[in-house]
Amino acid sequence: MASLSFRNVVKQYHQGKQSLQVIHGVNAEIADGEFIVIVGPSGCGKSTLLRMVAGLEEITGGEICIGSRVVNRLEPAARDIAMVFQNYALYPHMSVFDNMAYGLKIQKLPKDEIRARVEKAAGILELSHLLERKPRQLSGGQRQRVAMGRAIVRQPQVFLFDEPLSNLDAKLRAQTRLEIQKLHRELGITSLFVTHDQVEAMTLAQRMIVMNGGHMEQFGTPEEVYARPATTFVASFIGSPP
Ligand code: ADP
Ligand code: MG
Repeated sequence: MASLSFRNVVKQYHQGKQSLQVIHGVNAEIADGEFIVIVGPSGCGKSTLLRMVAGLEEITGGEICIGSRVVNRLEPAARDIAMVFQNYALYPHMSVFDNMAYGLKIQKLPKDEIRARVEKAAGILELSHLLERKPRQLSGGQRQRVAMGRAIVRQPQVFLFDEPLSNLDAKLRAQTRLEIQKLHRELGITSLFVTHDQVEAMTLAQRMIVMNGGHMEQFGTPEEVYARPATTFVASFIGSPP
C-alpha cells in the first residue's frame, strides 16, 4: 500500500489546434490506506484525474506520486494500481476462477500463488461457492463482485473506482456500497472513488474532494464539507442547511 500525492496537476486536451484545460492545478496529499471520494458534477474532470493516476491519460503538468515514486511517465502496468469501471466486462467463456486468475496468469505467477490469491479474494467477496460458474450463471451483483475480485487479486497499492455503481439499481447499489466498505476495512488499500452522487460520496468517504470545472473546491471529511463548505459551489452542491 502507499500514499498518493497530486502536486499542481494540470491537464489539457488537444483537439486539432484547439487546447482545452480541464484540470487546473490540483493539490492533494492522500495518506496510505485512506478511502477518498472525488465528487462533482458531470464534466468537472473526475475521470480525467483518475485516468491520469492510472496512466491512461498523459499528465500535462505537475506530478502524481504513489508512495515516493513519481509515476507521471510510467506505463499503466508499472504503477501498481487497479481500476474498477462502470462497465466491467468479464470473459463469458471462462469460469469465475479463471476470470479472476487471468491477469495473474499473464504475470506468470506460480499456480499455488494464483490459487491462494483468488481464494482469498473470493472469501472476502463471498464468491467462494461460485468459482466454477460462468458469468451468465451469476446475478448482476455477483458479476460485479467478480470484477472487483479480478482487481483485488493483483494486490495493488492503489485502488481506483470510476462510478462503478451508477449502472446498478438502488438495491444493488446499496449492497455493493457495503461490499466496497467491507473490502476497504479488510484490505485497507488506498482508494480513490469517483462519483457524481452526493449521497454516495457522503456515505463512503473518509475524506472527500469536491470538484467543479477542473478545480478542487474543497478537501475534507464529509462532516467538515457539510458543516463548513469552503465555497458557495460546495454549499449548493452538498446542500448544507442555511
Ligand atoms: P467527469 O468524469 O467529471 O464527468 P471528465 O474527466 O470525463 O469529467 O471530463 C472533463 C472535461 O474534459 C469535459 O469537459 C470533457 O468534455 C473533456 N474531455 C474528456 N475527455 C476528453 C478527450 N479525450 N478529449 C477532449 N476533451 C475531453
Ligand atoms: Mg466520468
